[in-house]
Amino acid sequence: MTFDDLLAANREFAADFDLAGFDGVAHAGVALVTCMDSRIDPLRMLGLKAGDAKILRNPGGRVTPHAMEALVLAVHLLNVNRVLVVPHTRCAVASNTEQELRERVSASAGTDATWQPIHVITDQVAALEEDVRKVRTHPLVPGSVEVGGFLYDVDSGLLEQKF
Ligand SMILES: [Zn+2]
Repeated sequence: MTFDDLLAANREFAADFDLAGFDGVAHAGVALVTCMDSRIDPLRMLGLKAGDAKILRNPGGRVTPHAMEALVLAVHLLNVNRVLVVPHTRCAVASNTEQELRERVSASAGTDATWQPIHVITDQVAALEEDVRKVRTHPLVPGSVEVGGFLYDVDSGLLEQKF
């Protein structure tokens, strides 16, 4: 098996494709920065659907330079006026040290992985506050854009606003 199962599913998806001619803006005006964790269903947890939001994901749900670049494009060119930064409970990069994660990657890879940067988070709430401030104070993010920092509970499905 390579990608056959996924390509078969894609053909079914395309058979009744209804997003043709759709523009690329965020119809609900929402951008979401969150973790790559597969327990997070970003659209569904906010009651949104395809086309509503810009979704940026990385380990930990951090506002990295690349995420910030995307947010600048999103607020100016893609209709975004609300930004949610959403890390989550029981996140691997917030509950392990960099050394622990490197050791696990090394063991899986069967080769040295100590050169691989792994950006762990030592204080998740402090990191969230810093990330929210980064977006709010960015010179290319207008004051009219609402920015919120939330923690997503992967056990209850609830979001709690922190900032
Ligand atoms: Zn995570």
